[in-house]
Amino acid sequence: MTAESSSTSSASPAQPLRTTKETHPNLPPGLILGEDGKPCKVCNSWQDWAKIKVVKKGASSSTSKDPMAMMAAMAGGAAIKKKEDKVEVDRSECPPDTGELGRATWTFLHTTAAYYPLKANTEQQNRMRALLGSLPTLYPCTPCADDFGADTKANPPDVLGSTPG
Ligand SMILES: Cc1cc2nc3c(=O)[nH]c(=O)nc-3n(C[C@H](O)[C@H](O)[C@H](O)COP(=O)(O)OP(=O)(O)OC[C@H]3O[C@@H](n4cnc5c(N)ncnc54)[C@H](O)[C@@H]3O)c2cc1C
Repeated sequence: MTAESSSTSSASPAQPLRTTKETHPNLPPGLILGEDGKPCKVCNSWQDWAKIKVVKKGASSSTSKDPMAMMAAMAGGAAIKKKEDKVEVDRSECPPDTGELGRATWTFLHTTAAYYPLKANTEQQNRMRALLGSLPTLYPCTPCADDFGADTKANPPDVLGSTPG
């Protein structure tokens, strides 16, 4: 059985809405927006958040002198420690960004595929189809979920059994 691993699809799903200079002048352009119209935490990487400009009331906008701290504040719950002019950001309390979630999910999917029987029985095949078929609905990064859905629609996963490695 093979898990689809590409993040680029052959059948392209609808492109996610993103920030632009016109629609979101105080945010870096290109951030993926969630259904609520706000930048989606799990669809953007924490490096994207680091580009956010700080706008203080009554002051003109300026890039944060401390983008890591700003990013941490945006991500919510990050602890910031300043040590000899070096900013250390503890992201252990932050929700996962797209990269962290993607790496964890790929590890799970590839490990599951590696332990999948050479000849899967009907129940195992149905369960695997259900597992992979759930991602386009349940995966919390919506553009990723749509992309994966388009990929698996174009190339349905072979769930008959694993390939001997
Ligand atoms: C279902 C799904 C859909 C996604 N869609 C998008 C998307 O549309 N846009 C986007 O920007 N990001 C998407 N991602 C996230 C993206 O695929 C990466 O996981 C993420 O960007 C982290 O990148 P990385 O370079 O650290 O690569 P990693 O996630 O570490 O891996 C990159 C490649 O290595 C392979 N790999 C990872 N772990 C293993 C393993 N244990 N054994 C063998 N091979 C492995 C993966 O198949 C992948 O091709 C998606 C993730 C998932 C799980």
